[in-house]
Amino acid sequence: MTANNQMPHPSTGAVHAAGSTNLRVILSQPRGFCAGVVRAIEIVERALRKYGPPVYVRHEIVHNRHVVESLKAKGAHFVENLDEIPAGAVTIFSAHGVPKVVVDEAAARDLPALDATCPLVTKVHNEARRYVARGRTLILIGHAGHPEVEGTMGQVSDPVHLVQTENDVDLLDLPNDAPVAYVTQTTLSIDDTRGIIAALQRRFTDIVGPDTRDICYATQNRQTAVRELSKLVDVILVVGAKNSSNSNRLREIGEEAGIPAYLIADGSELDPNWLRDARTIGITAGASAPEILVEDVIASLRRIRQVEVSTLPGREENLEFRLPSALADVG
Ligand code: SF4
Repeated sequence: MTANNQMPHPSTGAVHAAGSTNLRVILSQPRGFCAGVVRAIEIVERALRKYGPPVYVRHEIVHNRHVVESLKAKGAHFVENLDEIPAGAVTIFSAHGVPKVVVDEAAARDLPALDATCPLVTKVHNEARRYVARGRTLILIGHAGHPEVEGTMGQVSDPVHLVQTENDVDLLDLPNDAPVAYVTQTTLSIDDTRGIIAALQRRFTDIVGPDTRDICYATQNRQTAVRELSKLVDVILVVGAKNSSNSNRLREIGEEAGIPAYLIADGSELDPNWLRDARTIGITAGASAPEILVEDVIASLRRIRQVEVSTLPGREENLEFRLPSALADVG
């Protein structure tokens, strides 16, 4: 601390004025890792133990640099295309899922493949195939360019229509009485998709979609918790990667509630200016962000202000997804 009660930026050393009162920190609950992410990381770690390094992972196993770097250090190689993988090398598909052509290409090359696709994403893939097999045109609600969206669109050979907003529904080049079906990206919650689904149902006379129970529990729980959190805090920090869809959405929900909300990868990205007038800070974390990064943010806050940490009571999560049978016996 400087003589005039100013504090250095935790990473840059820049000096900012700091409040003298304690900072209350409320941790959102649940936050961070979901069962799909835990399973995907476990698959890479067990594959490394069973087969030895290197193993090849198509795309970031989950959208978090810290997770990717720690698996790289253990011998995982991350690639975007299968042609970067040498013949015979153990190949892992990421939690976001892959288009069917990628599975076929791996099989054609005899690559020993392990599928870390989250079972909730696989469920959406199965729904997509079932709807198309029944003669329906598929509409996918999701974000263009996201690997999960590319994987789901690639489950069927028929054209898939992507809608990102309610306006996109009006622009769909389909007759209003066409038999259609919709599926959704798992990292959109019930609240995110409600308006778009209502617009689809208004426009199309013959439309079916999945039961709402198909929505990812982790996405919904984290969003519900951050809405509660936003009633109690002056600023929200979301720990997660910039390319993590669910982390970005958590930040947006904070802002929609009128609370300044910032997405940061770890404590080094904390800007003390955000805390200048804050008495209470809320912290949540995206489904691919490990708890160690939340602790890193709290450590950075402690370098700026005295901090009291508490946790918002929230929904307990104890879901576990089964591992691929090839890895079940690996300790
Ligand atoms: S956020 Fe949901 S769909 Fe995505 S990996 Fe986690 S559990 Fe699976």
